[in-house]
Amino acid sequence: MNLTQRPRRLRRTPALRRMVRETALSVDDLIAPLFIVDGNDIVNPIGSMPGHAQRSVDRLGGEIDMIVELGIPAVLLFGIPAHKDAHGSAAWATEGPVPSAIRAIRDRAPDLVVVADVCLCEYTDHGHCGVLSPEPDSGDVLNDPTLELLASAAVAYADAGADIVAPSAMMDGQVAAIRGALDEAGHQHVSILAYAAKFASAFYGPFREAAESTPRFGDRRAYQMDPANGREALREVALDAAEGADMLMVKPAGPYLDIIREVRACYDLPLAAYQVSGEYAMLKAAVQNGWLDERRAALESLIAIKRAGADLIITYYAKEAAQWIKGES
Ligand SMILES: [Zn+2]
Repeated sequence: MNLTQRPRRLRRTPALRRMVRETALSVDDLIAPLFIVDGNDIVNPIGSMPGHAQRSVDRLGGEIDMIVELGIPAVLLFGIPAHKDAHGSAAWATEGPVPSAIRAIRDRAPDLVVVADVCLCEYTDHGHCGVLSPEPDSGDVLNDPTLELLASAAVAYADAGADIVAPSAMMDGQVAAIRGALDEAGHQHVSILAYAAKFASAFYGPFREAAESTPRFGDRRAYQMDPANGREALREVALDAAEGADMLMVKPAGPYLDIIREVRACYDLPLAAYQVSGEYAMLKAAVQNGWLDERRAALESLIAIKRAGADLIITYYAKEAAQWIKGES
């Protein structure tokens, strides 16, 4: 046997493997999602997302301190209001959960980057991401009237001190509408992280428990993307880039690595990928059953997202991953 090519030569020792490793996961890549609930002294653990809870603003401090301590650069905020209505008006209420949380975080951790998710589904009584057609039982989510409401929410978060707003409603034209409204309100410096290719995914299940945003009827397939469509994802991304997105996002991450790869190849904007609640819940459930090694499986899922081309990863594993990365170095 005379093999000239023996790739195993470079896998022989940990130091050799370290030298030829192509992709590195850094704490700088991580964004930690947080669920903010209206009220006081509330910490509601989320059953399907072990380690995560809905928190009222007054109980957020410890979590923020830990995130800062671990060196995680950014948080992504979702709000759960006390009252919901047909238009989701709590989304842009100045004293709503997200603006209140932004102000509190600004005070406590001025250097932490605050990203505010912009959507209506947590705030509407019907649970859809926009306003419904007045036609009885049509269940249609109206695109253009929703844009103004999303823009109002984005401006409210920018007013409160958000660095980045992240529109996730998958309405056509939402990035342009929000950019226009932010600029008009004097928020030229606030960036937009566009949920550009967001798929109608079954993996959002646990999030809906967390954000109390399950649609009361129907589903979101008339605005979120069909999981079967890759070319259409590039079209969505092209539109958001043209409308002024500063950063792009693919959501979910793990089942859509090919989309991440394609977007990376075609666009130079920073690219985020969202490892969603169902991806996290699957790992946690297997770990709790003793079927997977948590550290290895979670880090492998994250490095795969990075290798596919994501610069940033929104993940419910942010804190653990930061600890593991620190432990490694
Ligand atoms: Zn939504």
